[in-house]
Amino acid sequence: MADYDYDVLVIGAGPGGYVAAIRAAQLGLKTACADGRATLGGTCLNVGCIPSKAMLHASEYYDAAANGMMAKMGIDVTPKLNLPAMHAQRIDAVKGLTGGIEFLFKKNKVDWLKGYAAFTGKDSVEVAGKTYRAKNIIIATGSSVTPLPGVDVDNDKQIIVDSTGALELAKVPDHLVVIGGGVIGLELGSVWRRLGAKVTCVEFLDQILPGMDADVRKDANRIFKKQGIEFKLKTKVTGAVVKGKKAVLTLEPAAGGDAETLEADVVLVSIGRRPNTEGLALDKAGLVVNARGQIETNHDFSTEVPGIWAIGDVIPGPMLAHKAEDEGIACAENIAGQTGIVNHDVIPSVVYTWPEIAGVGLTEEQAKEKGEVKVGKFPMAGNSRAKTNHEPDGFVKIIADAKTDRVLGVWCIASVAGTMIAQAAQAMEFGATSEDIAYTCHAHPTHSEAIKEAAMAVTGKPIHI
Ligand code: FAD
Ligand code: NAD
Repeated sequence: MADYDYDVLVIGAGPGGYVAAIRAAQLGLKTACADGRATLGGTCLNVGCIPSKAMLHASEYYDAAANGMMAKMGIDVTPKLNLPAMHAQRIDAVKGLTGGIEFLFKKNKVDWLKGYAAFTGKDSVEVAGKTYRAKNIIIATGSSVTPLPGVDVDNDKQIIVDSTGALELAKVPDHLVVIGGGVIGLELGSVWRRLGAKVTCVEFLDQILPGMDADVRKDANRIFKKQGIEFKLKTKVTGAVVKGKKAVLTLEPAAGGDAETLEADVVLVSIGRRPNTEGLALDKAGLVVNARGQIETNHDFSTEVPGIWAIGDVIPGPMLAHKAEDEGIACAENIAGQTGIVNHDVIPSVVYTWPEIAGVGLTEEQAKEKGEVKVGKFPMAGNSRAKTNHEPDGFVKIIADAKTDRVLGVWCIASVAGTMIAQAAQAMEFGATSEDIAYTCHAHPTHSEAIKEAAMAVTGKPIHI
């Protein structure tokens, strides 16, 4: 080690960084992880995946009591919202999990350097006034909310907020306007809709959930509309002014045209996230960012500067916690001289609304651009478990190569789609054909049987439809 302080110094303790640090330490490397947040776990554990799921889970119960779902099952209840208690269980979940990472750091002897890091050279960084030299430095600084010009976020006022502010609203807004019909807009819009807000979603494109399969986007739009979310598609927000306790938004058709105004109690800006590289002094390390502000890496997560690596939201690819985690493991293994690989063609994505929306691999549109395909679709209304549970919405769709039958993509809308998609990802990782899935015995009665039936439908032979 000579004059190095660490074998590996990770910048950022999100799911990419903390997982990389733990794996590096497990592999016998002397490791530190720098993060200036008060608690470990990054965006995901502090203000992202975990607190949003805590609010989604709790509000789902409230909604089931309020919307007649429980009554359908013979349980007559009139729910009474205790929002402070709902927030308290969210805060508790975050506290437990971030504390868990601190415990894992101690257990694995990872040093937490408390502060934000900036490069002072190709193998050194400064954290809280102290300089550290490391043989390997992993950049895992994640991402932050993309600002919308003319719509200034002020989470303290709770009128124009980003996702962090929208998780913490002290009162249910009468009218919540969500800018952006992506994952955050639909998840957090769902939370407040379920708790009683009128929700309007303004989306620039002609359909919500860009990047997902077209059938999924269309059906999701129909389902959310039925739940009461109002959509203004092909519409852009050009500005917002706060007047007293309300915001007045100016909207225009995306293609140009007459402006209109829309009043809201709360506005959520959720138009995407951008990589965090400001303050890193990348120039001191000899690194540059690409046109999208991301750090480019090779397949093994090394950058163009030997000894500097990058993973997670700060590099190209979907901004997802499990993608960051897998990259963290692979990167640490590569540093240790092993062969760490992430198959970026098989990264599942899930929207945790009700029902859930999930997909892995290619959309039908993408697959058709590459060649001839066969598609099998099965509605959840034909699945015995979903039907029994009063969950008729949604479907499973399997896209397979027309010649080889290899599964290229799987998409589903179902109450437990996020759990169902795991078997599709595993099958694709093993190079499965639709026939392999169709002839795999699935437990009955489960929602997953819809995946088997969709696979059977690829060759036109489902049973229950
Ligand atoms: P991050 O988690 O962003 O962590 C980066 C860390 O680096 C931060 O703690 C930051 O403080 C630190 N940092 C930044 N600069 C420096 C510096 N100079 N020095 C030291 N530290 C620094 N993804 C999912 O897969 N599932 C979900 O359900 C999900 N829900 C989400 C909900 C919301 C509301 C949001 C906002 C995001 C959600 N995401 C979800 C996305 C997920 O949070 C990110 O993809 C994931 O956190 C990225 O991990 P990361 O390690 O790359 O970065
Ligand atoms: P997103 O990219 O998912 O959606 C942003 C939406 O805003 C898009 O539909 C886009 O067309 C629209 N948009 C962009 N500019 C606009 C404008 N000026 N006016 C109106 N609409 C506009 O981004 P997000 O929802 O902010 O989420 C950010 C990231 O966080 C995503 O990459 C996502 O992967 C991640 N995330 C994941 C989960 C999950 O896995 N369940 C949950 C939350 C967030």
